Amino acid sequence: MPLRSLVSIVAPPLCVSCGASAGSAEPLCARCRAELRWLPPDPAPYGWAPLAYEGGARALVRALKFRGAVGLAATMAAQIAATAPDELLDGFTLVPVPIHPARLRRRGYNQAEWLALELGERRGCPVSVCLERVGSEASQVGLNRIERIDSIQQTIRVRDGYEAPERVVVVDDVITTGATIDACLGALFAAGCELAGGLAYARTLGR
Ligand SMILES: [Zn+2]
Repeated sequence: MPLRSLVSIVAPPLCVSCGASAGSAEPLCARCRAELRWLPPDPAPYGWAPLAYEGGARALVRALKFRGAVGLAATMAAQIAATAPDELLDGFTLVPVPIHPARLRRRGYNQAEWLALELGERRGCPVSVCLERVGSEASQVGLNRIERIDSIQQTIRVRDGYEAPERVVVVDDVITTGATIDACLGALFAAGCELAGGLAYARTLGR
């Protein structure tokens, strides 16, 4: 019997967001799924995302990022794949937003890379991990918005030995200010990329 079936007999799956019994293999219960706030297909300035960063979508992002729940990437990528406009993905290479090497060592994985790989598999897009984060892992606490954008732009670049693909969609788990995706686009264009956009699983609203 697969491990997953054994686990579900011992402990019925609980909703990642509210803790209620999810009642199935879904990470969210029916109520939290019904309350997901789907966004219109037109992209925001820094990229497209299917969901608002709140409720169940926020819980999934946080569980993927902080609780090692990498299996959630499949569910999240399926939701992106089912809703992403064709013109956003067809003919594009997916490039995950890089995380700092020290953070990668602590966490053991890059959540954006998991999402990109799962999404690429579903929509037939190649994935390139051509970006890296360099410099010290300094906290951005205390920096104002402009300083934060400057600071992040200096830390993302195309890896030695990699080329920037011609058409790229930068993939992240969540878009907040857009500064991170913007920094990725800057590095890609500087390295010869011709057309690029961004997407994430969720986006904060009202900014
Ligand atoms: Zn729930």
